[in-house]
Amino acid sequence: MLSELGDDAKVLAGGQSLIPLMKLRYTNPNHLVDLNYISGMSYVKEENGTLRFGALTRHAEIEASTAATKIPIIHDCAAGIADVQVRNRGTIGGSLAEADPSGDWATVLMTLETAVRCQSSKGDRRVRLADFIKDAYTTALAHDELVSEVAVKIPPKGNGGAYLAFKRSAPVYPTASAAVQLTLDGEICKDAAIALGCVGLTAIKAEDAEGVLRGQRVTAKTIAAVVEAARAVADPQSDMRGSADYKRMLVGSLLKRAIDVAVRRARGEQIETSHVYA
Ligand SMILES: Cc1cc2nc3c(=O)[nH]c(=O)nc-3n(C[C@H](O)[C@H](O)[C@H](O)COP(=O)(O)OP(=O)(O)OC[C@H]3O[C@@H](n4cnc5c(N)ncnc54)[C@H](O)[C@@H]3O)c2cc1C
Repeated sequence: MLSELGDDAKVLAGGQSLIPLMKLRYTNPNHLVDLNYISGMSYVKEENGTLRFGALTRHAEIEASTAATKIPIIHDCAAGIADVQVRNRGTIGGSLAEADPSGDWATVLMTLETAVRCQSSKGDRRVRLADFIKDAYTTALAHDELVSEVAVKIPPKGNGGAYLAFKRSAPVYPTASAAVQLTLDGEICKDAAIALGCVGLTAIKAEDAEGVLRGQRVTAKTIAAVVEAARAVADPQSDMRGSADYKRMLVGSLLKRAIDVAVRRARGEQIETSHVYA
């Protein structure tokens, strides 16, 4: 249908971004193609060390999924999105396709090995998440392509991650957020992935900050240097959620807390996190 109708058609998944934009007349598609009638697009499966999410899997289904607990940061993300109404409708595929700079999924999945399966009547292709998100509200999808699946490699043993966001209240997008995934070898951080959310036009991979952590003992001094390097790449805009300076400070504080939880999880502790509310 998408290839027949051309770029005047939009896909409808959970409708939690598209319908508000249509109400505000920011978008006015001539055709809506409703994915909710296609069976088999909603699942969480573990296969050969990879978690596979059907594009139509709701945030709430991921929050409740036992398979998804294999990667605790994924549970942190799903459980913290907006309120229960939004989580019951909104989908992982819709979130990535929307590429909202404030969306939670891209920030979290950027710290993992994530591939987005894009499908059209001509066939399908797998795109690395980093190549899928091109800019704010812009992805690598062609107008006749769907996101059909999101595949995430399960990190090895000794790995721990955490995602924390600061929110003014549950049903709003975060003011800033930080995601961390790290691998410990005894006291040494063997590998690290850090992404910052809501402080740029897309989620920002803080590669300099990762470099500061890699190969080091995770001490207060190292964490302070990681936070400083992460703040340096944050590029926030001042808006109703706060000034750019405020968000830059905030994202560093969230990162510090997220590193603490990630280290404890990497050491085998079972820790629940929740976002920080104003
Ligand atoms: C009050 C409120 C608060 C929210 N707070 C948060 C929050 O804190 N954090 C957060 O991350 N999100 C938040 N959201 C957004 C929510 O997570 C949405 O579910 C998500 O952004 C879009 O998913 P959806 O399934 O609703 O997509 P839709 O709204 O149906 O679609 C969004 C866009 O993606 C396209 N699309 C959808 N599915 C596909 C697909 N499979 N393939 C190709 N294109 C597709 C659509 O054509 C459309 O352009 C909030 C939404 C609301 C209404």
